[in-house]
Amino acid sequence: MAKNPDEHQELGVTMNLVPEISNKVSGKHIYKKLQLGFSRAIALCCLSNLRHNIDGEIRALDASGCFGLAGVQWAKQFDTGVNIVINVAKGLKEIVETSLLQNQCKTSVKVLDEDSHVTMHSGKYMFIYLEAYGSAVTHFDAVFRSANHNGLVCITCTDTSVFQNKSPETARRLYGANLLQTEYYQELATRVIINNLVTAAARWNKGLKVLLCTFQEHGISVVCRVLRGPKNGNESMASLQNLVHCQLCQARCFLPVHRYIQNTRQLSICKCNSEGLEAPLMILGPMWGKDLFNKAFLFNLLHFGKMHRVPEKYCKLFFLMILESVCCDDQEAETCIVNEINRITFPEKKCCCKTETDNTEPKPKMLKLNATNEKNYDCKNNTKDIYDELQIMKQSSNIPFSVEETNTFQSSAPALFFDIRHHGIKGGNPPKLLSVIEELRSRGFKASKTHFNSCSVRTSADLLVFNDVLQKIWDKTLEAQ
Ligand SMILES: [Zn+2]
Repeated sequence: MAKNPDEHQELGVTMNLVPEISNKVSGKHIYKKLQLGFSRAIALCCLSNLRHNIDGEIRALDASGCFGLAGVQWAKQFDTGVNIVINVAKGLKEIVETSLLQNQCKTSVKVLDEDSHVTMHSGKYMFIYLEAYGSAVTHFDAVFRSANHNGLVCITCTDTSVFQNKSPETARRLYGANLLQTEYYQELATRVIINNLVTAAARWNKGLKVLLCTFQEHGISVVCRVLRGPKNGNESMASLQNLVHCQLCQARCFLPVHRYIQNTRQLSICKCNSEGLEAPLMILGPMWGKDLFNKAFLFNLLHFGKMHRVPEKYCKLFFLMILESVCCDDQEAETCIVNEINRITFPEKKCCCKTETDNTEPKPKMLKLNATNEKNYDCKNNTKDIYDELQIMKQSSNIPFSVEETNTFQSSAPALFFDIRHHGIKGGNPPKLLSVIEELRSRGFKASKTHFNSCSVRTSADLLVFNDVLQKIWDKTLEAQ
């Protein structure tokens, strides 16, 4: 089948990029929108998850403006149970309505072409997807006014360059935060966006539970559950913190929240000062200081991703995010988790993340809970938690998890990560990521890959330990030569 260059196909929907669209929306804007496939796949899986968890019809809003690709995808994938409203760019209403017909969408959809602030201020929704061109921050007030209790909000910002701190004034103006181009800037960005989500929600007496975050080349997405009530608002606000960052060595730690001025000299985050150097310690943020992921929610998304046949590369990302959110301190535990993901998310087949060469892949080993129970966990409480959670998962054959179960599986991953290219031995090649993870785990620390950056390690070890690990691996390499 010949592919029309003006046709965009995504998640079962074909969108004709007719000239009328390019007349109303700039080419750059369209290009950026088309790159956000992962964000729309997340939105689809979130809506599917919500539909599973909540009885009755769900009011879902695609507040993205532009040509309503996400909303059309929902209309195509869901026959019942969802009442969809799509807000598109001015003058594109008829085109999107035609597109719904062309894609044989069975659900009735209301298409609007008004300011999305107006749409959100004039109605309540259980699911809101907002995919902004640039920053979405000006919409946050409207989003949280509109979001129902226990509803989900999925926000995507595309102003990734702001977070590389190319213009600190812009970051300050839009997000009210101090940024820095650090090795972990992707996570910093995500946490600063959540800070803005939390404060916007709190003004409407609402709080949030962060379920998933991702930073891709073209956009940053955050998914959270909205919880009504000032108590929830206060709880979320209490998780906002500043981060102290040493500009010399890249060490960092969250600044404890105090009402009084503290002696910053007592903040010994690294040894730079004691080495006779006056280390400039920067205060970054404010930002979200708690977890970025919910393990059970990620499991659910992987399940629904498979159900809706989202592309393999997106399944892989969900998979990676689950491992990142667990951040094991033990190889065996990680292997068990991988097997468990295979078992409960892909019961009839092996994991979709394993590529075509299915018959050559080793069969996933079954989890041996009896054997693992006999292990001595005295020094590794964290691993014990993982095994306990796996037990619950094993007993719970009913994936997707319920909202209550989701609450028990909040991520236990440490905040922030180190990029192996920025540390270690001058002149030496960076070591293999897996050997660094292995060595950190052998010393009892949590360590895992991170989807934010393929050269980085998320770990509970501090910078001194991390550098020591790199040194040890380097020494071993020299010995071997
Ligand atoms: Zn330092």
